[in-house]
Amino acid sequence: MTDVTVLGGGIIGMTAAIRLQQRGARVTVVCAAGTLETVSAVAAAVWYPTHTDPEPRVRRWVERSYAEFLGQAEAGVPGVLLRRTRMLVRADPPWWAPPGTTTTAHDLRFTAPLTEMDRYLPWLHDRIVASGGRFVRRRVEDPAELLDRSAAVVNATGLAAPDPDLYPVRGQLVLVTNPGLDESIRDEDNPAGITYVHPRRRDTVLGGTFEPDRTDLEPDPRQRAAIIDRCTALVPELRGARVLGDRVGLRPARRGGPRVEAVDGPDGRIVHAYGHGGAGMTMSWGCADEVADLVLG
Ligand SMILES: Cc1cc2nc3c(=O)[nH]c(=O)nc-3n(C[C@H](O)[C@H](O)[C@H](O)COP(=O)(O)OP(=O)(O)OC[C@H]3O[C@@H](n4cnc5c(N)ncnc54)[C@H](O)[C@@H]3O)c2cc1C
Repeated sequence: MTDVTVLGGGIIGMTAAIRLQQRGARVTVVCAAGTLETVSAVAAAVWYPTHTDPEPRVRRWVERSYAEFLGQAEAGVPGVLLRRTRMLVRADPPWWAPPGTTTTAHDLRFTAPLTEMDRYLPWLHDRIVASGGRFVRRRVEDPAELLDRSAAVVNATGLAAPDPDLYPVRGQLVLVTNPGLDESIRDEDNPAGITYVHPRRRDTVLGGTFEPDRTDLEPDPRQRAAIIDRCTALVPELRGARVLGDRVGLRPARRGGPRVEAVDGPDGRIVHAYGHGGAGMTMSWGCADEVADLVLG
């Protein structure tokens, strides 16, 4: 049995760990913080390949992930929902419309998988443990340190990977009560700021912001007010919805797109898997397939 260490316990590291286990590897996940202290835990976590390039591998990742989430929703995996969604189109339609999309000059309508991360990340964690995986809480400066105990290491450290092409894109969300909505809507190119409303089971996610290179993590009250105003203009039923909280996180964006690449050194193979920007959930399972291929050959 091949021993593999996955460095990073966000959505990218944990989906890779599961794919590796499914292909027979013995997996240890090493992470500096708990599963719910990751950027992945902040995400609205809706399948929407926005701000991605239409390269063949990204197309493969998003399509495979879409199919995986449809199957998980059908199987009743905790936290996985399917929502009808409507995306306003102000310029050209995007490259990634999934099967069943209907398009007009003004919008795209399709079914978007969504993962409620407070339930989904613990489910991924427990699935890894149930298949014999281990979690170790530890900060690691260099993934190569871990090659002394495993044949290969997956570096899924998100924004923490030392790479000059990585940069943060700050995102702020507001959580409010759900006034009975069951369809999501996005107006990404709203000149006043990216705007989206994603109803979940127990709340509604209102977004958002997209600020390259801003790194403070305190919720900005002016941004909160502006998000609520834009979302309420788009969905008037939100008027009067109670604010439940704010979420702020730094998307791990990378010039040139995600780095998913194997590098062989004297002590073994490191497979890098980071830089998924604002679409880590959207690419996760498809990317995990490729990581498993790179690790196990
Ligand atoms: C506001 C917001 C909204 C978003 N909405 C969506 C959305 O709707 N759809 C979508 O697809 N994506 C969305 N995203 C993007 C998504 O959250 C990210 O792409 C994704 O979480 C990246 O996952 P990751 O596993 O690479 O990184 P992370 O979740 O950051 O995980 C990194 C892991 O590495 C560990 N680590 C880091 N450094 C070390 C070290 N030195 N030693 C040990 N461990 C280390 C951390 O502890 C953590 O476990 C959103 C992001 C934000 C901020």
